[in-house]
Amino acid sequence: MTTVIHWFRQDLRLADNPALAAACAQGAVIPVYIFDNVRPGDRRMGGASRWWLHHSLRSLDADLRAIGSRLILRRGESVSVMMALIAETGADAVHANRQFEHWWRSADDELAAVTTLTLHDGNQLAPPADVQTGSGTRFRVFTPWWRALLRQMPPRRPVPAPTHISTPEVASDRLEDWDLLPTRPNWATGFDIWAPGEAGASARLATFLPVIETYEVGRNLPAHPATSRLSPHLHFGEIGPATIWHHASKAAGEGAEPFLREIGWRDYATNLIDQFPDYAERNGKPSLDGLRWREGPDADADFEAWTKGQTGYPIVDAGMRELWVTGWMHNRVRMIAASFMIKHLLIDWRRGERWFWDTLCEADYAANGANWQWVAGSGVDAPLFSRIMAPLSQSEKFDAGDYIRKWVPELASLPEPWIHDPEEFGQRPQNYPPKRVGHREARERALAARS
Ligand code: FAD
Repeated sequence: MTTVIHWFRQDLRLADNPALAAACAQGAVIPVYIFDNVRPGDRRMGGASRWWLHHSLRSLDADLRAIGSRLILRRGESVSVMMALIAETGADAVHANRQFEHWWRSADDELAAVTTLTLHDGNQLAPPADVQTGSGTRFRVFTPWWRALLRQMPPRRPVPAPTHISTPEVASDRLEDWDLLPTRPNWATGFDIWAPGEAGASARLATFLPVIETYEVGRNLPAHPATSRLSPHLHFGEIGPATIWHHASKAAGEGAEPFLREIGWRDYATNLIDQFPDYAERNGKPSLDGLRWREGPDADADFEAWTKGQTGYPIVDAGMRELWVTGWMHNRVRMIAASFMIKHLLIDWRRGERWFWDTLCEADYAANGANWQWVAGSGVDAPLFSRIMAPLSQSEKFDAGDYIRKWVPELASLPEPWIHDPEEFGQRPQNYPPKRVGHREARERALAARS
């Protein structure tokens, strides 16, 4: 009987998994997850992602056991671990869903040179290279890219989950030995709002679909959560974008468009790292390379205050505290908090990107890098650096009062409009910090650094 390996990476699901389905069609399957801290280099998983991974792998193992299989865990550099597994089991081939991060692409190339590796397109709406301009080039701007993608939609129909997988006896690591969970201190107690795993992802989608038509208006209001919160599930591939597309379209028809467009931003970010493999490290616009970012002890102290939600700007502090407690932050607030760090504190966007990399459950090389570059104004498609967001008026405009009250309890008793800017109204409580920098002063400093 033929035995093949399914290599799980960011596709931790059974349904809508073309690589797993292809492996199952060939014979017995060894489903393996390799925890690789070598290939990604300094892009090894951050703390919050490791928390998610632990729970997601446990859930995947239970799902596999329910259909007669189990998850084999191995640790180390992926290509050598995979070759050792092939030698040990006599497996004939490897199937995997394609990843676009440069460290996976080089691993795939090396593996394909020495064994039969089949890559499938399971994690995107469409393979990035298939979305092209009329003259056969790649897009760098979202809107025309989106129009071209829409011409290829709907995506493929999701393949059903296998009902049985036979798996030979193969040794596995113990998940507990990987130390993915924090212990001293356990900073993840607030992460219990999440249910990692395929069932949790489906439940999250099922909760969201009945309210999908409130998304367009509600998505910018952090105090009235109206977004799907599917991002960590999508990042780890516990649900695929094709499944989401079909369910959302069925639930809301054309009314699903504003939501599907955001799902599109995820593919679009992958389109960028496919063209610019180091996009999360290097300015998309080289013209920004000369910008004089602040460095040194004062900048370090400002950065630390930002990470801790102690900047004196309530909306920024609320967001940074939500991130720390839950491993997630509302998108509108991410934009405000990121913009504040970049433009008000004049700290290199890459430093904030790294903080998010460690603290977001869904830290994603493509989406994180692309969004930080967009906010910084350094992205290939981004607005100008000189467009500076005013955090206090954003807070008021998007009705963030109750959001601030929830995450910044020192300010909980302040009414509108003081809650957005207590210092300006002479209402700053003693236990809440003064502003690290004034808005006007920060704006002038940022514009001067650019020139
Ligand atoms: P919804 O609004 O319900 O959107 C549905 C899905 O679409 C999301 O789950 C996500 O997969 C995708 N999506 C939505 N907006 C974007 C976007 N702007 N770019 C790419 N995909 C998007 N998203 C990540 O998945 N990983 C990251 O590391 C990440 N870092 C970010 C950093 C900054 C500075 C900013 C401004 C945004 C970042 N985002 C990132 C994008 C966005 O904030 C999150 O995807 C979104 O907030 C997740 O919440 P949701 O699932 O409720 O989104």
